[in-house]
Amino acid sequence: MSLKLGFILFVLGVGLVESRAKHQWGKLTADKIEQFKKAHPRTNVDRFVSALDRMNERMATKEPTAEEKLNLAEIIKGLKNHKRSPRHHKEGDSLSQINTNAGIANSLYGGDMVLSDPQVDVILGDFLDDSETGRDKRQAHYSAKYPTDLWGNTFYYYFDASLSAKAKKAAQMAIAFWQNSTCVDFVESQTNPNRVRFFKDGDGCYSDVGMMGGVQVLSLGTGCEYFYIAAHEIGHALGFFHEQSRYDRDTAITVNSGNVIPDQRYNYNKLTTSNNNNYLMPYDYGSIMQYDELAFTSNNGRTMFAKRAVYQNTMGSALISFYDISMMNSYYKCKAKCPNGATCVNGGFRNSRNCNVCICPSGWGGITCSERESGCGAALIAKGPIQTQSITIGANNEFDTEYETFEKCNYIIRAPMGYKIEVILKTMTGIDCIPGCVYKGIEVKAMSDHRYTGIRYCCEEDIGTKIVSEGNVMPVSLIGPGCNIPGYFILRLACM
Ligand SMILES: [Zn+2]
Repeated sequence: MSLKLGFILFVLGVGLVESRAKHQWGKLTADKIEQFKKAHPRTNVDRFVSALDRMNERMATKEPTAEEKLNLAEIIKGLKNHKRSPRHHKEGDSLSQINTNAGIANSLYGGDMVLSDPQVDVILGDFLDDSETGRDKRQAHYSAKYPTDLWGNTFYYYFDASLSAKAKKAAQMAIAFWQNSTCVDFVESQTNPNRVRFFKDGDGCYSDVGMMGGVQVLSLGTGCEYFYIAAHEIGHALGFFHEQSRYDRDTAITVNSGNVIPDQRYNYNKLTTSNNNNYLMPYDYGSIMQYDELAFTSNNGRTMFAKRAVYQNTMGSALISFYDISMMNSYYKCKAKCPNGATCVNGGFRNSRNCNVCICPSGWGGITCSERESGCGAALIAKGPIQTQSITIGANNEFDTEYETFEKCNYIIRAPMGYKIEVILKTMTGIDCIPGCVYKGIEVKAMSDHRYTGIRYCCEEDIGTKIVSEGNVMPVSLIGPGCNIPGYFILRLACM
């Protein structure tokens, strides 16, 4: 009797498998797929990609409502159409472009993450059919205590021989940044049982999320050898998901799924309150974990709109934002290490590596965040009624695409109490109109809360834009590569 029953189940199993389309692995060869599976011993990769496919099927058939279409039309009407600069890197100028071009984005959660089996249970649970895979679906749910897969005080890693020298350098810079701005120590180790292997898997940039246990991977393939990509992937390895997948993202962005590559719609899946804890921090368009407006586009049309439209070009930033740093400090309980110390102003908080010094919102610096951030730039006074102030930075030198990191020139513009500052972007030369202004641009903090990333401008169409501050202090930063920031900006300041 039991034999017969077993036989029937077997036939049923085969029937189910055949009814499903096989996962499309894109450009990956059979060897590569095997290698990918081997690199993820804590993930049943077939089960993972099958859940992604099922999630995609459901999202692809979800048509926008009439109201959503109307809202979208309204948003688009209010936006400037940017003439985008030609691509700098043939692999792509953003993570999503690189992974799409590499043909791997549709086999990764959010386009660049691999989830462990327990994470698949929690995050993709609704899209699993375990009769196919033989794994029991666990009734696993993260609670408000999420994140759970953290490293504690030390993040162990090593560089695989496959990693290029350039990628290694980018990773080292990103590691130094995360280490200096959190209480997590990054320690190189070939032997610690739990460690991250930085390696090169073809052209892909991706990571596991949080600490998996055992040896886990972080790939910086061709096109991924830049600070911002390494910083983003390490963000995943430390436990971050994407900004655009926050459970509350609908308050901040509108996804235009009509422009998304059909087999990648699932990359815009949202997390839930049970697996996403943002420590009460607000949505930040300038997060290093935020994709740009063209992420996974099928037609070069925008796939994401900022509900606060002026922040459209802030999305896709190449810098780790203040809120990224602040949230990572909350994740790893760094803030609790400084019950006493410096009195931070302008939204800063105590640096757990030295409680007498503050970590400041960008544009601000000094021990308590009351001074201008160090480096080039100046403190300016806006005197009414109108003052033309030329700000010239760097030289119009040749743009070097092989830059390693960014330099900022920071200005703090002040007006008398009770007045506002009006800035007009009079001239901008040497700019690069790339989403997120990832190569160079100007950032203006118009809000009086300077913890948020400011508004980024880097397109010709932005010339003539008038920005009025909420308060009487306005940080303005120029962002560019290397020691010299090519570019030339003239602002017209007025006191209102
Ligand atoms: Zn990512």
